[in-house]
Amino acid sequence: MNSIQPQSGNRWRGVVHEFRQYLPVTDSTPIISLNEGNTQLVRADNFVKAIGGECELWLKYEGINPTCSFKDRGMTMAVTKAVERGAQVVVCASTGNTSASAAAYAARAKLKCVVLLPNGKIALGKLAQSLMYGATTIAVEGNFDEALRIVRELGETGKIEVVNSINPFRIEGQKTASFEICDQLGRAPDFHFLPVGNAGNITAYWRGFKEYYAAKKSDRLPRMFGFQAAGSAPIVDGAPVADPHTVATAIRIGNPASWQQATAALKESKGHIDKVTDEEILAAYKLIARTDGIFVEPASAACLAGLIKCVKAGKIPAGSVITATMTGHGLKDPDNAIKTAGFEPIVVEATKDAVMKVIGF
Ligand SMILES: *Cc1c(COP(=O)(O)O)cnc(C)c1O
Repeated sequence: MNSIQPQSGNRWRGVVHEFRQYLPVTDSTPIISLNEGNTQLVRADNFVKAIGGECELWLKYEGINPTCSFKDRGMTMAVTKAVERGAQVVVCASTGNTSASAAAYAARAKLKCVVLLPNGKIALGKLAQSLMYGATTIAVEGNFDEALRIVRELGETGKIEVVNSINPFRIEGQKTASFEICDQLGRAPDFHFLPVGNAGNITAYWRGFKEYYAAKKSDRLPRMFGFQAAGSAPIVDGAPVADPHTVATAIRIGNPASWQQATAALKESKGHIDKVTDEEILAAYKLIARTDGIFVEPASAACLAGLIKCVKAGKIPAGSVITATMTGHGLKDPDNAIKTAGFEPIVVEATKDAVMKVIGF
């Protein structure tokens, strides 16, 4: 087990090891880790310039986690606790990234994993992950909220560990992203931007920022700015959405499980929640790839679309330090990437001249 490996040099050992004093583990907890976390914080000056902003923007690039989304931070914690309690089976409903992560960590822990996905509504890369890690993969003829209802009922049987973000250990693990941001910046940001789906992550980040501040590891608390997709914006609109729609499938959620906590985070931090259209999401998605070489999935770009909106509305004072969570890797969703890029490969005959002609020489 990782937990009894000797410490070797300064090798990063995953978020549970690294932040154990802030997490519900003991020395005998059998930690299941893929060395998640320690993701880079990348400054995106070109993007800021392109949108006419005057802030400092840092992107927490969670797409470089082991299964290519932030979900790994929560999953190492949830699966660790499942093993500690002697669970045999883990289950989740997912728009794709939770299932990919659950499947990987369950494989490593030798647990059976069952995932419920909205049929036909998850990105191709995420489906490939669940299948490759060997999870029992069930496509439910319904949306995420319906799949989560079934999962809650399965959990009530007491035989199965639910690893959705209604599992409190998921939120605990995910809060470590805030710790890393403060460590990497040497301070807390003025604003933190992120996309909101089931609202677990906004809950986790706010908890993380508060705990680090209370531990005197950071000097301030950021304002939390969350963004939903216009076709699935229950928190913004103030009512559950029965049939949510958006190109950003990771946030296609009509009745967020952590709604109350998200509302509290927004209120306590003097934050802001708004919605952005699919058009705005896809424009930001393409822009961040082209200006700064950062390829994220559409849901991640929702908060960049939100930043564009805030800059235009004059909500961001000049010189503000902003961090934003890039929740998942762009390669998760190749279909949307190829559609959004706006052009196809140019086919030429196999000669230098043909290539020169395309280049314009
Ligand atoms: C899960 C997920 C979200 C939404 O996070 P919540 O905690 O459900 O609000 C956003 N983007 C990506 C890529 C995700 O996988």
